[in-house]
Parts: sequence; C-alpha cells; structure tokens
Amino acid sequence: MFESLVKAPADPILGLADIYKADERVHKINLSVGVYKDENTVTPILNSVKKAESYLLENEQSKSYLPIEGLATFNLATQQLILGNDSPLIQDNRVKTAQAPGGTAALRIMADFLFNKTKTKRIWLSQPTWPNHRGVFHSAGLEVKEYRYYDPQNHNIAFDALLSDLENIPEGDAVLFHGCCHNPTGIDPTAEQWQQILAVATKKRWLPVFDLAYQGFGGGLEEDVVGVRLFANALPELLIASSYSKNFGLYNERVGALTLIAENADIADKAFSQVKTIIRTNYSNPPSHGGNIVAHILNNPELKEEWIAELTVMRQRIHRMRQLFVKTLQEKGTNQDFSFIVKQNGMFSFSGLTEEQVLTLRNDYGIYIVNSGRINVAGMTLDNMSLLCESIVKVLA
Ligand code: PMP
Repeated sequence: MFESLVKAPADPILGLADIYKADERVHKINLSVGVYKDENTVTPILNSVKKAESYLLENEQSKSYLPIEGLATFNLATQQLILGNDSPLIQDNRVKTAQAPGGTAALRIMADFLFNKTKTKRIWLSQPTWPNHRGVFHSAGLEVKEYRYYDPQNHNIAFDALLSDLENIPEGDAVLFHGCCHNPTGIDPTAEQWQQILAVATKKRWLPVFDLAYQGFGGGLEEDVVGVRLFANALPELLIASSYSKNFGLYNERVGALTLIAENADIADKAFSQVKTIIRTNYSNPPSHGGNIVAHILNNPELKEEWIAELTVMRQRIHRMRQLFVKTLQEKGTNQDFSFIVKQNGMFSFSGLTEEQVLTLRNDYGIYIVNSGRINVAGMTLDNMSLLCESIVKVLA
C-alpha cells in the first residue's frame, strides 16, 4: 500500500528551520521561522505563564477530559479579549467559543464546519497569505481562490485591486482576512479601509472569516481588533480563529480558539452544536494545560497586567528592531528606500528581496529568510544587526 508513495515536499518554512539547525557557521542568522525571539535570540517563557504554571501544579485536581468545547473560563475570556469585556454580542448569547489545539486547529474546525455544515464550498484567501491556509482549507474540501492584496511596487496594500476582487466574490462564499499583523506582508487595512471592506461584504453577502494569530503584536490588544470588532458588530454572522501561540509564547502547548457569532442565541446554539460534532470526530476534546494557563492569567487581574506588560515588551522590541534595521541599512550604504518596514505590523515584513537574493544570503552569508523574501523581524538583535545589514547591502549591490 505504501510503496507507491512519493516523498512529500518539506514545509517551506519548517523545512528551512532544519537546514538552519544543521548549519555550522557561528554567525548564522535566522529570520525565517515565525516565533518571537528576545534580544538573546531566545523564545522566552513569559513570567506570567511561569506563575500560572506553578499555580496549576499546586492546584490542579484532575486530569480528566475537558468538555468537547474546552474550558468555559478560557472560552469566555477569549470572547472578551477579542470582542471587548462589555460586548453586547456576548451579553446576548450570540457568541460561542471552542478552545482548540492552536490557531491551526481552529482554522481546520472552521474549514470543516463551512464545508460540511453550511452551503459554503469556496474560500478566498489574500494573495499572498500564510502558506498553510491553502492546505488547511483545501484539505477540508473547500475550493481555494485568491483575492489581490499586496502591491509590491509601493510596498503597500493594493487597495483598489482588493476592493474590485471582493466586489466579484459570489454570495455565500467565505473570505478570509488576517485580523492584524498580516502574515507575510506585515500590512493591514486602516480603520477606514476595514469600513470599505465591510461595506462590500454587506452588499455582496459573502461571509467574512478571520484569522487572528497576533493580537497584541501590532498596535496593541485593542488596536489589533479594530477590524474584527467592526465586522462582528455590524454583521449577523462571523467566524474567528484565534491563537495564543504568539501573544502568550505558548507555541508548543497548542492553544487557540474558534469563535462563532450568529444572528441570535438560538442560531448560535444550533450552529455551535454542529461545531462540536466536528471536534468530537477529530480530536474529541482539547488539551488542558495551555488553555488553563491562558484562562488563569486572563481571569486574574494582577497576572493579566503582568502579561500585558510582557506583551508590550515583545511588541516594542520588534518595533525598535524595525527602526534600527532601516537605519542600519542606510548607514551601510543602501541606495534603496526601506522606510516602509517601519510602518508594518507584527513580526513579519515582505523585504522585497528576490528569491535569488534570498538564496545568496543563505548560501554565502548564513542568513536564513524564506524564499518569498518574508523576514521575521524578531530574529534581529543589537548584536546581529550590523552583519545582517552589511550582508544585505552587498547582495543588493
Ligand atoms: N495563522 C497565521 C497567520 C499564522 O502565522 C500562524 C502561525 N504561524 C497560525 C495561524 C497558526 O498558529 P498556531 O501555531 O497557534 O497553530
């Protein structure tokens, strides 16, 4: 049965991490994989997380199963973080959340729900997008199409092209947006642009769905959900796949959530019962440890404050690295304008480097960037900046 199988291509991003690991050059720099790194190129465990873990170690009473939808305290805290503590949607019981093993699983539940339980058979993704989006939605059976998003000449959102593509999407299709910190471009719609996108969604009656993997990494916890809240408050239905991998640094604990908003409490209840059947036949119920950490922190005002402070440190470090990167490139003599990098959000930027330049940086300088030219700004430090910029300037010359 297995003999005829050919080798599947390595994941373009995770595959690169393996090659980086095997590289023996001491000055190698990794700007490829999508995890936060601190000034010492370490992906830290937050203090607030350590405190929650020690609380759990002392107080956890049982390892029995969680419900299919996970921890109730986690799910409510997730709704409040995304929609606001006083959201009337939550008060009206229009919102249902299922804890999921990471943002990826939340996206997969979303995909299975759309394909198997609704009339939606097609989803539109931004061009470009996180490469795994295509695989996740395609695996669930959905037809995957793309709308234009990025203008490489101006390093900006291709807003006219975006609107014109959205105008042509048929009623009943799903359209995926990145809630904030668009991966890979780092470019998000402005509040005004979200309004215009919402107007098209309302007129054309396609279903917007959100991937919210970086809340708190762009402008701040509130700033990063301006678009999501606008849509949630204006539309009868919405789906949001969120992740706590980045903003809590809980990558390997696999913590995320799928949030469903329906027109009224009754519809929400029925739709969510269908979400639960999908979970039951997939992984049955979510792991508890990461969800418990997040719930404990978000429901404890002191710890929550500490977490917000730690998140702010991560966000500000990335922003400082963006500024220093642009400044150092100038100092090293680049004749190109990289100032667009300072305006982008989150860990990623589309650098504008070509695949050929990316390969030269990897082979000749030990600098790892994904082939699309996407760089993880969090891989930059005060120590590696000079060498990094010198090498890029040489490759650009
Ligand atoms: N969506 C986007 C846009 C991402 O960048 C990522 C992580 N790289 C995910 C979803 C998945 O997150 P998780 O690790 O929580 O599954």
